[in-house]
Amino acid sequence: MTRREELAANLATVHARIDAACAAAGRPAGDVHLVVVTKFFPASDVRLLAELGVTDVGENRHQEAEAKAAECADLADLAVRWHYIGGLQSNKAAAVARYADVIESVDRPGLIDRIARGADERGRPVDVLLQVSLDAPGSEHRAGADPDLLLELAASVDLAPQLVLRGLMAVAPLGEDPAEAFARLAHIRAEFLEHHPEASVLSAGMSGDLEAAISAGATHVRVGTAVLGSRPGVQ
Ligand SMILES: *Cc1c(COP(=O)(O)O)cnc(C)c1O
Repeated sequence: MTRREELAANLATVHARIDAACAAAGRPAGDVHLVVVTKFFPASDVRLLAELGVTDVGENRHQEAEAKAAECADLADLAVRWHYIGGLQSNKAAAVARYADVIESVDRPGLIDRIARGADERGRPVDVLLQVSLDAPGSEHRAGADPDLLLELAASVDLAPQLVLRGLMAVAPLGEDPAEAFARLAHIRAEFLEHHPEASVLSAGMSGDLEAAISAGATHVRVGTAVLGSRPGVQ
């Protein structure tokens, strides 16, 4: 099997899972968009994925993402959108905005001016998702804003004309049933939508838990392993 055939077969399997999860949730097929997470995999895979119809790819490390986006920039017909889904260091935020079309991991106000500056330099707006933490209060904090801070963060994004607030992103905490975490997320999102009805994207669900995320309302799933295979050197 060629790499292209392998990716095509994996994509078909993932699309079938998404379709089945939409059906089970009573949502129309096509309600959920696939972002293929290409971290650790080469630009050649991004090209193959684009040829196979993938429109959105995700990366979580700035240096790797920047290099890969540059490697793919020569292909005029390669119309993939780059999603930055990793932790954002303040001093890298402007640089990320120079190649990312969507930044999914905005979790603190200090990032916003820097992202806006990068967007200015590139001369086009950047879509933003606010990453919300689903960790139980008191647990060791992983990435993401406290749910109570989302409206404040959204207000800051709205003040930056270069940024377009699209919605929320979350990762299910390790060691918890993802369905329970995503149920909390659905509540957080419903409340958020009352204030920001235009920000209707919900990016949640990965290879292992995309069904639970879709049943909780995800509009975008971020899938790496199930499409590309196991990442080298990663559990
Ligand atoms: C790596 C990663 C994914 C994809 O995870 P898989 O289990 O390989 O599908 C999704 N979201 C984020 C934030 C990631 O870092």
